[in-house]
Amino acid sequence: MKIIMLGAPGAGKGTQAKQIADKYGIPHISTGDIFRANIKEGTELGKKAKTFMDQGLLVPDELVCELVVDRIQHDDCKDGFVLDGFPRTIPQAEALTAALEKIGSNIDFALDIDVPDENIIDRMSGRRACVNCGATYHVVNIPPKEEGICDRCGHEIVLRDDDKPETVKKRLEVYHAQTKPLIDYYKNQNILKSIDGTQPMDTVFQVIVNILGA
Ligand SMILES: [Zn+2]
Repeated sequence: MKIIMLGAPGAGKGTQAKQIADKYGIPHISTGDIFRANIKEGTELGKKAKTFMDQGLLVPDELVCELVVDRIQHDDCKDGFVLDGFPRTIPQAEALTAALEKIGSNIDFALDIDVPDENIIDRMSGRRACVNCGATYHVVNIPPKEEGICDRCGHEIVLRDDDKPETVKKRLEVYHAQTKPLIDYYKNQNILKSIDGTQPMDTVFQVIVNILGA
């Protein structure tokens, strides 16, 4: 069960990826975690990645792909994995397909959590974070006991710059330009499954389970 997650930032794909990983006993892999692990362990790939990151440069597609392919060959991936946050672009997807072919492997499912931009902007604008301890809330879904005040430490909770509609709109533009073409790419490979991500999270997960099989 080799799965990649697609969907706009804020569509909830990370949450779904975690639940899939728990239910099917396969690792949830994000590129951030791979970078951190390789740098911490001082691997050759990690050292290479670090030289780019230290200069504030993006790690090149081929190297990210090498790191991902290395990670998915670890023992814990023998029954599959959920890739979250990679690939993000067509060149990355092509590099991943080629690298997997080389080791006689392929992706089984590309799950697209589909949520219209307006819903994402709405959702994000309801988020609040504590200025002191970083605890997160949502005005509708996870409200604090007292409006505007952190349950944990009593400090003020605010809408972060990252969650402001202008910022979210910019991220969505990047997503539409770079990542959305992946939907066609995986559709052409006949492994794309689009899921209506506006439904409650539990319903979205149930739909995914129906697709993947119990
Ligand atoms: Zn707090």
